[in-house]
Amino acid sequence: QSQELSQVQVDYHAALQALVEDGTRMVCTGRMHTDRICRFESLCYSTEAEEFVYFHSNSSVMLPNLGSRRFQPALLDLSSVEDHNTQYFNFVELPAAALKFMPKPVFVPDVALIANRFNPDNLMHVFHDDLLPIYYTMQQFSDLDVEARLFFMEGWSEGVHFDLYKLLSNKQPLLREQLKSLGRLLCFTKSYVGLSKITTWYQYGFVQPQGPKANILVSGNEIRQFTKFMMQKLNISLEESSSEEYIVVFSRTMNRLILNEAELILALAQEFQMKTITVSLEEHSFSDIVRLISNASMLVSMHGAQLVMSLFLPRGATVVELFPYAINPEHYTPYKTLATLPGMDLQYIAWQNTDREDTVTYPDRPWDQGGIAHLDKGEQERIIKSTEVPRHLCCRNPEWLVRANQGTKVNIPSLIHVIRQTVKSKPGPKKQKWSGSLYPGKVRDAKCQASVQGTSEAKLAVSWQIPWNLKYLKVREVKYEVWIQEQGENTYMPYILSHQNHTFSENIKPFTIYLVWIRCIFNKNLLGPFADVLLCST
Ligand code: UDP
Repeated sequence: QSQELSQVQVDYHAALQALVEDGTRMVCTGRMHTDRICRFESLCYSTEAEEFVYFHSNSSVMLPNLGSRRFQPALLDLSSVEDHNTQYFNFVELPAAALKFMPKPVFVPDVALIANRFNPDNLMHVFHDDLLPIYYTMQQFSDLDVEARLFFMEGWSEGVHFDLYKLLSNKQPLLREQLKSLGRLLCFTKSYVGLSKITTWYQYGFVQPQGPKANILVSGNEIRQFTKFMMQKLNISLEESSSEEYIVVFSRTMNRLILNEAELILALAQEFQMKTITVSLEEHSFSDIVRLISNASMLVSMHGAQLVMSLFLPRGATVVELFPYAINPEHYTPYKTLATLPGMDLQYIAWQNTDREDTVTYPDRPWDQGGIAHLDKGEQERIIKSTEVPRHLCCRNPEWLVRANQGTKVNIPSLIHVIRQTVKSKPGPKKQKWSGSLYPGKVRDAKCQASVQGTSEAKLAVSWQIPWNLKYLKVREVKYEVWIQEQGENTYMPYILSHQNHTFSENIKPFTIYLVWIRCIFNKNLLGPFADVLLCST
């Protein structure tokens, strides 16, 4: 991986002339700053001003052209975290003629993806905010291929997980600090700015207490396509016929400890008759952890970022998340949400320590390690007495921090009991056949025929053909839902039917117009679209 931008690839004179004559060209997707990604030609960056620069000329393009709304609050989010005010992107504008008076531009020949990492020292953030969004942003734009170069503008140093970012393209990612050494004015020949948020499933609680995102758009399939890619890059092959089944305990060694880890491991091994091993980020290489987790039957860990590694678990495996005293599992669900994404096919179990005797608190540590000695006496007392941390905003709530740093002596019978409520026999990957869910198309050729008997009775015979895709599918159960609505009324009569025709006579009046809505349902819960509404007059 080469770090120097090879200037040989660029005809410098031609590039400079193009910049001066054509200026910057920008076309974006997205209606709001929160869903926008922009493609640029000749976007520049002043390493002295630490600002991006847009050069106006006769051929420059700026879409959307927002005027001063570009600052309300920004053109786009540079990280995948929604609308965070430390992560905004914008540029300053200059006429291309100003280039005459500026440092000579250095051109970046690689197609660039310019973005912010959100918190590169925390593994959950690394995967959820950066790696998955970068991977799928690159999938979205075909010139962001393996030869593209990532530029991280958040200003952090590499961080402990930098090797993971390097897997995403063949070129060494560059950090903001490193740009200075490349030149005073950098001009990206072709670049994309911003990250897709389409794969994120969690909001961290900046404006409302943390929780799953309101509209999750990712399924286990896309997560697993990404992990497959990562494992290929890490040279880890999936052992198809894994000989031995085992449990992985993912331990933390600095804080939020399991105080009776040895006892826990023995108990799990005995209960499930499986080898049980421990891993930690401090003692194992990332590849080794992935290799172990990707074949495990069960992953057991304290709540914490390391649990994002359940992304690598095989289908059918079980995730057991342990919560310290006073921390309500329902209030902190990034890993539960991940494990229960449709198609992830993981079993998720939360266990909480509810026994004060089994917790060790460290109120005297510095505040950032969860100490509370800096708070007034009354507040300290309230916190220590409290049995549950109330819902709170990110990120420095002292009551959360002191509880999150507790060590826990896991009550073994209570834990085994909770696991056994879900895992009846042996845990672990079942050889599952593909269970992807396909939805029916519209029913076709819907027709209705009315008949009137006298002045008070009428019948409505409705028929339709199967959805077009059904003839190519094996579907366990095919049903049809029909709604009959009298024109002008808000209510309707719903029916679930097994056949492709039905004669309705209940509540059907003569000389009335009915709207008939029909859709197909596969396997009870796969609801298809309604066909165009039928108008039927009796
Ligand atoms: N971490 C770790 N061992 C520890 C404490 C933390 O490996 O004893 C890792 C953790 O998995 C995460 C990072 O260090 O990747 C930051 O941990 P922190 O406790 O700040 O965040 P949390 O795990 O609560 O998200």
